[in-house]
Amino acid sequence: MLVYNSQTHRKEELVPIEEGKIRMYVCGPTVYDQIHIGNARTFLSFDVIRRYLMFKGYQVTFAQNLTDVDDKIINRANEQGRTAADVAEECSQAFIEQMHRFGIMDPDIRPRATREIEAMQEMIQVLIDKGFAYPVPSGDVYFSVRSDHSYGILSGRDLDQLRAGERVEVNDEKRDPFDFALWKAAKPGEPSWPSPWGEGRPGWHTECCAMIHRYLGTPIDIHGGGADLIFPHHENETAQAMCAWDKALANTWMHAGMLRVNGDKMSKSLGNFFTLKEVLDKYPADAVRLLMLQTQYRAPLDFSFERLDGTVGTLERLQACVRNLRWAAGQKPTSGELEGADREFGRVVDAAREEFCAQMDDDFNTAGGLAAIFSLVTSANTYLDAAGEHYACAVCLRAADTLCELCNVLGVDLSASAADELPHELVDLARENAGYEGDSADEAAEALLAARQEARAAKDWGRADAIRDGITALGLVVEDTAAGARLHKKA
Ligand code: AMP
Ligand code: ZN
Repeated sequence: MLVYNSQTHRKEELVPIEEGKIRMYVCGPTVYDQIHIGNARTFLSFDVIRRYLMFKGYQVTFAQNLTDVDDKIINRANEQGRTAADVAEECSQAFIEQMHRFGIMDPDIRPRATREIEAMQEMIQVLIDKGFAYPVPSGDVYFSVRSDHSYGILSGRDLDQLRAGERVEVNDEKRDPFDFALWKAAKPGEPSWPSPWGEGRPGWHTECCAMIHRYLGTPIDIHGGGADLIFPHHENETAQAMCAWDKALANTWMHAGMLRVNGDKMSKSLGNFFTLKEVLDKYPADAVRLLMLQTQYRAPLDFSFERLDGTVGTLERLQACVRNLRWAAGQKPTSGELEGADREFGRVVDAAREEFCAQMDDDFNTAGGLAAIFSLVTSANTYLDAAGEHYACAVCLRAADTLCELCNVLGVDLSASAADELPHELVDLARENAGYEGDSADEAAEALLAARQEARAAKDWGRADAIRDGITALGLVVEDTAAGARLHKKA
């Protein structure tokens, strides 16, 4: 498997530190508000990476933090006249809720900054003891970038160039403008914890590093986040690990490209954002996933509601195909003439699976993986159309299972739509209109369709329409196919 490493700018063979196991960490959100769909793109990318690694048989341990103490949280709390802890708790719950709606798997470990103060203080003390960090009179503790000769290793930035090219905040207590706070002295009214350097709170970059060390051990296999975190956040994380423990923080650094609107990065500060919640209130989560996964995770992704509308249709096409294949697979096997075509279709199913894996093995190319899935959908539709009533049930089942399995790797669940359970009210409808006496919704559907067919043959349009209206009133549609009519739920 080839994985692009942001540190070396190359695709590299993924070689786990411990055979068969992958330890990965993805920076979580700062919990002060609902997340936007740009944030969601990064979390989705790593959800799919994790799922594919699991699909390949790796035992994956996935950790993601919640940054629950930060200036943004404190400001929000002050605006709303609440405590920072209260805002952070509410937004953490909201984040977890939206992640569930979006089909993102829970991390195995979800540490919160405010509960990891001790681990962070230990790390800061090691850095001070080794001469890589220094406390100042105000009570802050800074990491000294000048003392770390490999500073810039991840982002490829050189400190002199940085100093010349970027505006940085002026602070007399810092030895270098790029020194960053490991510990921040508390201002009145801010959440704080006692420390050897006075009351204060940890800096953001300290958090991930200490948590990785505590929960996963360093180095880990994969460290991920959005590309905007490479500098300074990830640069600072890796600097701390190298200096504190003489170890790289991660073997592979992976970064998701930015989601953009009209060419601009989606961000809270630009105000050009849509929250994940508002999008999921209007669109199926799987359609949003498909839209995002149609672009490989490293490439920028241009978001628009027109594109998303289009993806809703794509999702329906996928669902309809699985439904048709499952329905066909559930019918009596038909023998005969199409054996050659059946075998050929079977080969197409296997080839689609191989192509999907080849694409995903190439740095998780979900765009290519989805192309393999859609090519199978097209082949399946062609096969079913050509076969009429003469299709092989076994190969239809294999095709449906393959589509579900591959989509499942992308976190797109087709099983619910494929089962498409019919409502029990059909039984009453069939009793009234088709002389049905049993108690099965599936049988009732068959009886109603037969009765409708009978009415149409007898040109009894009134009765045929009444049956169709009764079916429609239950939220179902009659689909006429080459192999006969059937019912399914409206998409
Ligand atoms: P934050 O809460 O700002 O730290 O962001 C959480 C995650 O979302 C980080 O991994 C960011 O890199 C990522 N992120 C922020 N904006 C975008 C965007 N427009 N597209 C993709 N990822 C983003
Ligand atoms: Zn981080």
